[in-house]
Amino acid sequence: MSDITEDAANVPYLDRFRLTGRHVLVTGGARGIGLATCEALAQAGALVVLTDRDADAAEAAAKGLAEKGLSVTSDVLEVTDAAAVQALADRHPDVDTLVNNAGIARSNIPAETMSDDEWSSVIDINLNGLFWCCRSFGARMLERGSGSIVNVGSMSGYIVNRPQEQAQYNASKAAVHQLTKSLAAEWAPRGVRVNAVAPTYIETEMNSYVYEDENLMRHWIGGTPQSRMGRTDEVASVILFLASDAASLMTGSIVLADGGYTCW
Ligand code: NDP
Repeated sequence: MSDITEDAANVPYLDRFRLTGRHVLVTGGARGIGLATCEALAQAGALVVLTDRDADAAEAAAKGLAEKGLSVTSDVLEVTDAAAVQALADRHPDVDTLVNNAGIARSNIPAETMSDDEWSSVIDINLNGLFWCCRSFGARMLERGSGSIVNVGSMSGYIVNRPQEQAQYNASKAAVHQLTKSLAAEWAPRGVRVNAVAPTYIETEMNSYVYEDENLMRHWIGGTPQSRMGRTDEVASVILFLASDAASLMTGSIVLADGGYTCW
């Protein structure tokens, strides 16, 4: 065993979850899963940059976490703008942990009538934007010889949701999973881990309309062995694990956090 490997093996287990002194950047962090992730990683000791496409929303969200005593600052990022992503990476050269969370869903759109824009807008944010971020921030991690990227995929990358039609969303998340594995394989020899979390339905703005729709509730909750939707903090916990050295042997993993949905 090398000295470095031996040192890592001797770190107490709970300490492996700590992110003390790590520089984290989260996309789409102003609310929902992204916001919970910023809180979780900052609680673990990281210095977090919370980004979102709305600068004011990002600033307000970061302020709320800073008021809880956490080390969180904000910056603006529209992930579809590759030049803006590169400029952000240049402004934050120390980022060693990236969480690609920004994403949108557009549902109830039958494939045969889906417009170009309905297709492209989802692919542009969920897949292209995520790749621009991996590329710009990953390059610096590779130069440094270490880093950890966590992508937010979805169980929709494995299953087809029902009853709502959302072929473009499902395809975007399956692509995120395969991109995660591809980057993991390319970058593992140079010290950068790339993993993804694949959540079930989570209680966020994205799904706020479900509570008024009995049919949706029947399919979503009725199709879940745990008989409930997930909470944002439950996804953030998985992201914390994957980001941390506790997951040092994991790269290219897509971790389902789905209340058992994909068992049936
Ligand atoms: P929310 O809609 O609650 O929050 C998403 C945040 O990302 C918003 O602040 C949004 O800003 C921002 N955002 C959207 N587009 C962009 C962009 N182009 N550039 C930068 N920021 C952007 O989403 P969730 O927390 O529910 O979802 C977060 C991630 O989790 C997504 O990738 C989603 O696909 C994934 N996911 C969610 C599930 C769920 O059930 N909620 C289940 C599985 C996966 P704005 O307010 O301007 O739109």
